[in-house]
Amino acid sequence: IVSKLPAVGTTIFSQMSQLAAEHHAINLSQGFPDFAANPFLLQRLAKHSAEGLNQYAPMPGVPMLRAQIAALTARCYQRQVCADNEITVTSGATEALFVAIQMLVQPGDEVLLFDPAYDSYAPAIQLAGGTPVHVRLQAPDYQVDWSLVSAVMTPRTRLIIVNSPHNPTGMVFKESDWLALQQLVLTHQLYCISDEVYEHMVFDQAAQLSAHCFAALAARTVVVSSFGKTFHVTGWKLGYAIAPPSLTAEFRKIHQYVTFASFTPAQYAIADMLQQQPEQVAELGQFYQQKRDFFAAALATSRFTLLPCAGTYFQLLDYRAIAAEMTDVQFCQWLTTEHKVAAIPLSVFYQQGSTDRIIRLCFAKEQHTLAQAAEILCQL
Ligand code: PMP
Ligand code: GLN
Repeated sequence: IVSKLPAVGTTIFSQMSQLAAEHHAINLSQGFPDFAANPFLLQRLAKHSAEGLNQYAPMPGVPMLRAQIAALTARCYQRQVCADNEITVTSGATEALFVAIQMLVQPGDEVLLFDPAYDSYAPAIQLAGGTPVHVRLQAPDYQVDWSLVSAVMTPRTRLIIVNSPHNPTGMVFKESDWLALQQLVLTHQLYCISDEVYEHMVFDQAAQLSAHCFAALAARTVVVSSFGKTFHVTGWKLGYAIAPPSLTAEFRKIHQYVTFASFTPAQYAIADMLQQQPEQVAELGQFYQQKRDFFAAALATSRFTLLPCAGTYFQLLDYRAIAAEMTDVQFCQWLTTEHKVAAIPLSVFYQQGSTDRIIRLCFAKEQHTLAQAAEILCQL
């Protein structure tokens, strides 16, 4: 077989979680919670399944859930979207990203990405026949220099993919970033995919902004969200895409032949949750900020340097003072096998690699898990 993705191996998330399991390490690598989801949500899943909602959902998603998504979007961002022709429920944000990229990228198109970048974007662009163009963000705060972005535009540039709050760095766009993005999209007639799976995890009273908040940008954007992140159920693989009607119509043409529809009982359960416990979403930022602060305090006496974390559930650590001679991949292997804490090396999120000495740890964990990991990390 001629590989369509010759440079691609197994994702780092599978690799590190497997290594963690083999070595009985505390797994702070792949991003997922180690605590139970809300009991009401779980009970609703069981109820809907027991009552017989186990057949195909409507292709765009269960109407009740799409109505709740429209209400959530209005509550969080004051944007009115139409549940019938602007919202599509997908099998995780991963499916939404893949479908949006297949829809927007023609062979020969260039797509702007920021490195470090989430690992599913570039392969999806390549499968669509496009070329990813990577713009590098620099530690420690990974701010976008929008003048640099303008400089790499060509007549072939069709799409820009942004991700705020940003995995893996925890950087969050400010209003000025969104305005610069909007200007760029309008000037060059680009489309935008805004990966906002960590949208409700923004810390320190910062405003929760989104492509939804900027009308001219939103008119050319597919906004991607994930219930896996918001409701601590990454294994349910439920997300959604919001886009103007003309884009949504094209999006659904592809979605219907990728998965057709997503897991039915979970769609009903999440609709119930959004309707009956809306405060769960509103409190998520506070919930994860406490975990961030607990973990940072527990690491205060370590020799790691903590990088700023304005959002997401990831903390970056610079380990130069501990083992500057090791690459980040070596350091993560060593940390997992010898010290039983698994992390993700940052260099894998860069097309050209990175010589920084930085690793990513997930703090979506029980306090005792974080305490136990921090105790080990403080001894290095
Ligand atoms: N985008 C980013 C930035 C992510 O971190 C993730 C989750 N790892 C996804 C997309 C995929 O989300 P889902 O699990 O809903 O497919
Ligand atoms: N988004 C998660 C992370 O960044 C992992 C998703 C996956 O395993 N594919 O860790």
